[in-house]
Amino acid sequence: MSKTRAMVTGGAGFLGSHLCDALLHEGYAVIAVDNLLTGRESNLQHLRNDPRFEFRKLDVSDPFDCGKVDYVFHFACPASPVDYTLHGLETMRVGSEGTRHTLEVARKYGAKYLIASTSECYGDPLEHPQKETYWGHVNPIGPRSVYDEAKRFGEALTMAYHRYHNLDTRIVRIFNTYGPRMQLNDGRVIPNFMKQALRGEDLTVYGDGSQTRSFCYVSDEIEGFLRLIRSSEHLPVNIGNPIEHTILECAQCVLAITGSKSKIRSQPLPPDDPRQRCPDISKAKALLGWEPKIDLETGLRSSLEYFRQALLEPAATGN
Ligand code: UDP
Repeated sequence: MSKTRAMVTGGAGFLGSHLCDALLHEGYAVIAVDNLLTGRESNLQHLRNDPRFEFRKLDVSDPFDCGKVDYVFHFACPASPVDYTLHGLETMRVGSEGTRHTLEVARKYGAKYLIASTSECYGDPLEHPQKETYWGHVNPIGPRSVYDEAKRFGEALTMAYHRYHNLDTRIVRIFNTYGPRMQLNDGRVIPNFMKQALRGEDLTVYGDGSQTRSFCYVSDEIEGFLRLIRSSEHLPVNIGNPIEHTILECAQCVLAITGSKSKIRSQPLPPDDPRQRCPDISKAKALLGWEPKIDLETGLRSSLEYFRQALLEPAATGN
């Protein structure tokens, strides 16, 4: 009998590769697809001898078909502010055409579909913490709009396939997530602070550091995705850690766990940088019985060895 087959787009990325691991662990056959724009094959290196795993280098923004699948997890998208600013048009294309092509694959094979959406749908939120029912406060033409609006369009298209084609869809709104396999140079706050602390350089806090984020450790986040796909909820569900930290607290925590003597240096705040961000996860708790277990300090400790090793790799030199 053929095995249940799951496709992960963006499978060579940070979250995508951890999702591949988790699906294989659950007994699925897994096909990862990625155009390697921001993903890295090294994230999948450890799976290359697993007969249930395959990797295809392709761009889901062009039509594609890798044969029958039972699940489609659409995670392909540049995800850090630095990456999506650099690749703005690709980001809009993968959120629109890429989403349409992945939905068409799910429709062709009658597969269940899950799209990775984002807390950026809430923009710089006026409601706090953010519930799924909040429509958001998004600048549609600012520098972050290539990401925010692509993801919002992806959600709308997913709901349209659900309503017009009866597709069995899920939408997860992902909040800041961190852990091993994050790219050292993607510009996000935790890789930046870890890299700076381990090199003894100043930690660059943008603005006065009073803006907040809520950081979820990757294993908690992935568990939320698995529970959501097993549920029958079609409307968006927040999966993130509701414990909020200022960016300054985050910098201090990185200094404490690395034992670094680095100083904190203020730099200008990027435009449209959300002031605060914190998920209301009461829906995920009630619906999925899910809540994160790992606090920031524990998660940073678990990530430390990865960041140490990543700094030794040749790609880290000079950045
Ligand atoms: N940030 C910072 N220093 C850095 C990188 C980021 O102070 O070296 C801040 C950034 O301005 C934002 C927060 O940390 O307020 C989270 O930024 P990140 O790029 O990780 O993701 P975002 O949540 O903005 O998408």
